This record gives sequence, structure tokens and C-alpha cells, in this order.
Amino acid sequence: MTTVTASPTSSLTHQYLEEAERFSAHNYHPLPVVLDRGEGSWVWDVDGNRYLDMLSSYSALNQGHRHPLILKAARDQLERLTLTSRAFHNDQMGPFLRELCEASGFDAALPMNTGAEAVETAIKMVRKWGYQVRGVPDGQAEIIVCEDNFHGRTTTIVGFSSEAQYREGFGPFTPGFKLVPYGDVEALRRAIGSNTVGFMVEPIQGEAGVVVPPDGYLRETAALCRDNGVAFVADEIQTGLGRTGRLFCCDWEGVRPDVLVVGKALGGGVYPVSAVIADAEFMDVFRPGDHGSTFGGNPLGAAVGRASLRVILEEDLSRRSDELGSWFMDRLRAIASPHVEEVRGKGLLIGVVIRESSGPARPFCEALQERGILAKETHHQIVRFAPPLTVGRADLDAALAEIETVLR
Ligand SMILES: *Cc1c(COP(=O)(O)O)cnc(C)c1O
Repeated sequence: MTTVTASPTSSLTHQYLEEAERFSAHNYHPLPVVLDRGEGSWVWDVDGNRYLDMLSSYSALNQGHRHPLILKAARDQLERLTLTSRAFHNDQMGPFLRELCEASGFDAALPMNTGAEAVETAIKMVRKWGYQVRGVPDGQAEIIVCEDNFHGRTTTIVGFSSEAQYREGFGPFTPGFKLVPYGDVEALRRAIGSNTVGFMVEPIQGEAGVVVPPDGYLRETAALCRDNGVAFVADEIQTGLGRTGRLFCCDWEGVRPDVLVVGKALGGGVYPVSAVIADAEFMDVFRPGDHGSTFGGNPLGAAVGRASLRVILEEDLSRRSDELGSWFMDRLRAIASPHVEEVRGKGLLIGVVIRESSGPARPFCEALQERGILAKETHHQIVRFAPPLTVGRADLDAALAEIETVLR
């Protein structure tokens, strides 16, 4: 791994940073690096410096940058047909949804584009199921969610966030949600009432800082939901599709959710593709006109989704993630650092918690950037390491040497 030479202060980089600063909304705080090329686990900045991408666009790049099979599928489809809307059928959506159902073991899937849209879809599905199947009085359905959740940025979704900044200035919010502490089965048991229709949970809380719940949490909450006629909704937008060392993170505890929400890597880093996957009991609450999306299920997205899924399955990326993740986490834990409080995660979804006394995580990320590693802090104290699942062991090994220097 080579130390980055020119970087943030080069005039070319500076020019792009100024332009973005001037013309964009300031709703992000990116690292000062301007990228113009990517391949596999590597990206290059406009000055020609190379970096190992250890964020993978929040797990949307599990297959790496510009995977040849995904690019080929996209190119082939670009040459044929890109958009039909759902007013007509196309020859990619059916096969895509069948392949998604075969991989996940469910009856049907509903295609959307972004993760937040898929979460919104799941909320609508579970509410309607509650009224139609469970017989909850109209307008009374309640969905339980967890503190420190991250399910997206729409007004309904931020309305049930426990993060003050996500909500501040954006109300009024959609009613019908109740918060319980994450990882606490008894809190969920106490919160379930006669109008509770769903419990929506991240199997590992990614944005909260790679928070892994206690062993048995998913299994016990899923059983609790089953006993109470509550739909168990797993938001696997970040944890799914191989990221945690299983195809879905719920697989670690043998849990089959009632409703499974996927996104991010389903688009292979090329195109936004998300989906809600469920059995007919849930899927069939939707009738024509109940719900929709102009771009959801479009042939380009479906072709990209098919290739993205095929790469994950055929390259056995779940197993790679499991093996490389365990090894990488062991190596991280072995680093004697006065700054590290904890290393946690599953597969290649890893969080390094920086001690409060060592200051925030951001300067560690900036130091990593100078050494050719792109990682991003989440929630002040945590550095997240989530490289593409296709990353080479030698590349991770080289990165470890740099990480060790920075953490020491
Ligand atoms: C990223 C993410 C979302 C939102 O996905 P977008 O595509 O950004 O709308 C929802 N849930 C989880 C767990 C996520 O990580």
C-alpha cells in the first residue's frame, strides 16, 4: 500500500471540493477525496492516488466496483430496453423476482428502487395485513421499532428515529410507531399490544455503529412475534446479500422473517434496486392501484439485480465474507491500541469503537485516507470497515499494517 502524496490539498481536488461546497446542499460531511475511477476493491482520486475502499458505499458494493458480469448485464440491457413502467410487462422483472424468491425461499417479491422506498412498502404491507388478516380496527395499527434504528430518510421513517438530528425540523410525523431498546426481548414483550401488527428490526444495526444484538435476540423476538400474530420485518438492506457472512444476517439464528427488506447490494453498485420479499399471505394484500413506483421493476434494474444476485451466489461471497471477516476481526483485535475500546461485527461488517478519551473517530478516518484507505466514521466514535466481499486477503493484509499504524 502506498502513502497518498498529493491528495486533499492538490489544486485539482481543491477545485472539485470548492465546486461541490458551493453548488450542493450540505447534507453530508464527506472525506475530502474526489474519486474518478473504481475497479474491484480499489478507487482512484482525480490526482491518480489509489485507495482501498473499505466502506463499499454502505454495503451497496458487496460485489466490488464495476463487476464485469454486472456491467455486461447492464450494457446488454441498455442496448435492448430500459424502462416500461408497470403499465406493461417486461422480460426481466419476472425472472428477477423468481430468482430472488428462489434464493431467499419466499413466495413473492415487490421491486422498488431505494432502500427507504422498500421500507415504506413494508410498512404499508404490514399495516394492511394487520387490518385485513388480523382484523385490527382501522387506523389503529402499530409497528414497533428499535431505538437507534436506521431505516432511511423519508418523513415517515425519520419520524420513528430516536436520533434527534434525523427528526429536528422535519415534523409533523406519521403516528403508529413505538420504540423499544434494541437487543432487549423483554422490552418487546411488554410493548406488544392488541393493535401491534409488526416489529421491524435490523439484524445488526449498521448506521448506529455496527451494533450486534445478544445471541438469540433475533430467534427470541421472531418467536415472540409468531406467538402474538405480529409480523417480523427484517430490514436487511445493509446486512443482507452476504455482508455478514450469511446470505441474510437472520440466517445466523435460523430465523425466517415474515417480511424481508433488501436493497443496496441488490443493485451491484450500478443502479438502485430494492425489494420487499414475503409469502403470499402478506404480498396478496396489495391489489392493482394500492402501491407503485414508476421505476420499480424496470428492465434495466431487473437485469442488474439478476446479475448482482448471481455474482453473490456463484462467487460464494457469503462464505468469503465469513472467512475473511473472522480473520480480519481477529487481526484487528490483536492490535495493541490505546485508542480502541472494542472491535465488533459479523462477516465483513466491522466496527472499531474509539475510546471517548481518544477523541472522535473522524481524525482516524482522515489519517487512514492519507495512507490509502477509505473508511468512514459512524456516530462519532466508530470507524466502520466494510470492504467489498470480493476483496483479496493480501489487500486486507496490507491495509491492516496501515490501520495498525494509525490506531497506535
Ligand atoms: C441504507 C439503509 C436504508 C436506506 O436505504 P436508501 O437506499 O439509502 O434509501 C434502510 N435501512 C438500512 C438498514 C440501511 O442500511
